[in-house]
Amino acid sequence: MLHLDIMDGHFVPNISYGPSVVKAVGRKTDLFLDVHLMLSHPEKYFEAFAKAGADAITFHIEVHPENPVPHAHRIRELGVKPGLSLNPDKDADSVLPFLNEFDYLLVMSVFPGFGGQSFIESSLETVSAARRKIDAEHLSTQIIVDGGVDSSNAAKVVAAGAHILVMGTAFFTADDRKGLADQVHALVR
Ligand code: ZN
Repeated sequence: MLHLDIMDGHFVPNISYGPSVVKAVGRKTDLFLDVHLMLSHPEKYFEAFAKAGADAITFHIEVHPENPVPHAHRIRELGVKPGLSLNPDKDADSVLPFLNEFDYLLVMSVFPGFGGQSFIESSLETVSAARRKIDAEHLSTQIIVDGGVDSSNAAKVVAAGAHILVMGTAFFTADDRKGLADQVHALVR
């Protein structure tokens, strides 16, 4: 899948791109488009990203801490898979009660905003806690880990319970991108 980071310069201190770029990317690939909304008001843009071809739309618990579930339902109504994300300083308990409503839990392992940051180890505790609940309750939610993942820590992230690893800097700076992808796929399968 392609993981597309959308930043508004408000929820995070950086700006990336919007639905028109997602649409342009979608015209060039059949890959699953996983759209990660780092926005203060993500719900305003669900429809625009759905129309742009998003297959999954993830928003942050930080902007809807009380009840993210209606937003998951709205994303699903648009024919898109909903995901919920949390920053590294957020406790797993903030998202665990809602897991059954989401196809993806996106665990941030850096503070979102910029590429090239170091992996924050404590995020593995969130991954483990979520994986225990998913397995115990036979949920279909998949755990995605996003931020600072590279070939040196990928095995540890998978061992903690992640299903999907996002790689940005590690992938794009690798001499052998296919080799890196094959190495990571072998860990997860
Ligand atoms: Zn992301």
